[in-house]
Amino acid sequence: MELLTSYTLGELRERFKELGLEAYRANQVLNWLYKKFEVDFLNMTDLPKVHRELLSRHFRTHTLEPIHRATAEDSVKYLFRTQDGHIIETVLIFERDHLTLCLSSQVGCAVGCRFCATAKDGLLRNLTTGEIVDQYILVQRETPQRIRNVVFMGMGEPLANYEGVRKAVEIMVSPWGIELSKRRVSISTSGLVTQIRRMAKDPLLKGLNLAVSLNATSQHLREFLMPISKTNTLKELMQTLVELPYPSDRRIMLEYVLIKDVNDSEAQAKELAGLVAPYRRKFKVNLIPYNPDPSLPFERPPMERVYAFQDVLRSYHISTFVRLSKGLKVFGACGQLRSKRPELMVK
Ligand code: SAH
Ligand code: SF4
Repeated sequence: MELLTSYTLGELRERFKELGLEAYRANQVLNWLYKKFEVDFLNMTDLPKVHRELLSRHFRTHTLEPIHRATAEDSVKYLFRTQDGHIIETVLIFERDHLTLCLSSQVGCAVGCRFCATAKDGLLRNLTTGEIVDQYILVQRETPQRIRNVVFMGMGEPLANYEGVRKAVEIMVSPWGIELSKRRVSISTSGLVTQIRRMAKDPLLKGLNLAVSLNATSQHLREFLMPISKTNTLKELMQTLVELPYPSDRRIMLEYVLIKDVNDSEAQAKELAGLVAPYRRKFKVNLIPYNPDPSLPFERPPMERVYAFQDVLRSYHISTFVRLSKGLKVFGACGQLRSKRPELMVK
């Protein structure tokens, strides 16, 4: 069976014609799916019954199977099973006045950051466009309030799954699709320089928010924490970001996970300030206190240390925010997402 969420409107109109349906029926079907989040063809009542039956035979409206949800005060973590038996995670975050959905883009991740639980599995595979869009549809279906903010900060490196993520974004921001504002969609990358440049030239992706995980102020430490940095060096990354065309009323987010006694000293704060201050109008810094995970050897610094680090950056007039990850209690916070969950595997 074909998966509906893997088609753009244009592609679906062509496919419908091949099946002997009028092209405008594709608009009607996507309207049900992306405006009303209806996943059962039989309920799509403005289509003739024979069409609804034909569509049910040819298409699935989603492919992920929800297997678990963990609710906390500030978030809900969803676990989904893919057709081939992987477990992926999606986290709905309750912000003060809106909802944000944190999406996964890959099963596992090849980047191998030492402080991230997702890295432990290596890369198992890219998620398909349909699997990325499904995460949104399935969570929105059971959420009364509209989800208007999406961040690619779940499992995986979104820019290493460029095509899959790109098409999912197309579905999410198009008027015929979920119709999110591009300004409310963020892509977080570990710093793949070539892909960042490609994104900046891409008419579809260049209007999104860009977040870059920096995490260290020296090449030596960054290479230790994020092996990707051997080929995407800190210098090259900063240079790329400084030269990147970016709307002047918006900032590139630099993410910095603060890990106790690894990258949280005052000297390191000054080094970071040195890197960022000359371009302070282009960046803002998000400090993320490290989220512990039983499989990882690091610790979170005391909050005084976090605020002292922030104070240093602020003294250089750099916009700096402390982001306490939501979802800590349900292991849904940054760096805690794992695809291998032995306790959840079906025998
Ligand atoms: N792969 C992308 C997006 C997913 S990771 C990236 O690395 O940017 C999303 C964010 O979580 C990144 O900023 C990453 O540095 C951060 N992160 C990873 N492990 C973490 C941990 N244990 N505690 C806090 N943040 C973590
Ligand atoms: Fe991959 Fe991001 Fe985790 Fe690094 S922090 S291993 S890039 S998911």
